[in-house]
Amino acid sequence: MKSKMKAAVVRAFGKPLVIEDWDIPSVGTGQVLVKVEACGVCHTDVHARNGDWPLKPNLPFIPGHEGIGLVVAMGSGVTAVKEGERVGVPWLYSACGHCEYCLSAWEPVCPEAQFGGYTRNGGFAEYILADPNYVAHIPAGLKAIDAAPLICAGITTYKGIKQTQVRSGQWIAISGIGGLGHLAIQYAKVMGLHVVAIDIEDSKLAHATRLGADATVNPKHGDPVAAVRKITGGGAHGVLITAPSLPAFKQGVGMTRKVGTCVLVGIPPGDFPTPLFDVVANCVTIRGSFVGNREDMAEALAFAVDGRVKADIELQPLSAINDVLQRLEHGDVASRVVIDYSRGV
Ligand code: NAD
Ligand code: ZN
Ligand code: ZN
Repeated sequence: MKSKMKAAVVRAFGKPLVIEDWDIPSVGTGQVLVKVEACGVCHTDVHARNGDWPLKPNLPFIPGHEGIGLVVAMGSGVTAVKEGERVGVPWLYSACGHCEYCLSAWEPVCPEAQFGGYTRNGGFAEYILADPNYVAHIPAGLKAIDAAPLICAGITTYKGIKQTQVRSGQWIAISGIGGLGHLAIQYAKVMGLHVVAIDIEDSKLAHATRLGADATVNPKHGDPVAAVRKITGGGAHGVLITAPSLPAFKQGVGMTRKVGTCVLVGIPPGDFPTPLFDVVANCVTIRGSFVGNREDMAEALAFAVDGRVKADIELQPLSAINDVLQRLEHGDVASRVVIDYSRGV
């Protein structure tokens, strides 16, 4: 095996990533080394590069938390995966396994959780170290490039929809039809929901319709709250906000039907105003949702095995990463870009 790998590195917040030659990390006890085949590019990687959030990663770091690859080396004591197995190294990189949250399958909020491509180096490199207890097990028959978007965008929206507690036949409003939202529509349709898709780009809404959305709303063309209330007869039973844009959040709460649930998954930096009287008097629930647990991961991947959910992907080499992040920041990616290492770096 060679000793160096290409990696795209954040050296300073707000600056382009630097492509560097790094030593391939060696496995320690209880770790595995994954040779990356593909890694999706999430809007979270834009926030990470920009240092947008209160919890900041230590510099320098390698982003990327949709990395899929093969286990090529095992540290001592590893039993949870086998050499040669195809795994994903997700945002939930590791957790303690014994706190109150880990014990109740809420491991993403474990106080000791580490985050892939953020507090641990991620998939914008040819190799990643991983914790075998927290990798995603990629089902046979699913290609690495197709699996990549599912281990963040897929699990996050699948779990987020479940957290709205909508039932088959009810309405869900999905705000933001990018990497997360285009998968959310597909999960929602498989779950038997009526979908109203909201985005500020008409091209994203045309795609939403192709994916099965029953109605679309563009906030640039009129009040989106009134439009969704009209379409759904009083508001959507569940709302899922993936848009990385603050105005979408107040709008999303306004679109929620009485006694409905508005789930927040987009994380633009900042706060949004909450109309207290309406939320209280309408008994609306507003809840955050952060990726999902390992069972959610297995379920989210299972929907893709028979093709009921399929990410729309654009393949790029690692050398294009700065252009891709720039496009993502400006809404110029159709659905999801996946870095394809089979094309060289
Ligand atoms: P993306 O850039 O692929 O998609 C965002 C979409 O939102 C785009 O289609 C854009 O046109 C649309 N949009 C922008 N402003 C809008 C507005 N005002 N109203 C409606 N739509 C609008 O991004 P992504 O990869 O899907 O990620 C979205 C957000 O979700 C990011 O903030 C990311 O950090 C966050 N995220 C959260 C979790 C979690 O666990 N909660 C997981 C993954 C990503
Ligand atoms: Zn992500
Ligand atoms: Zn824990």
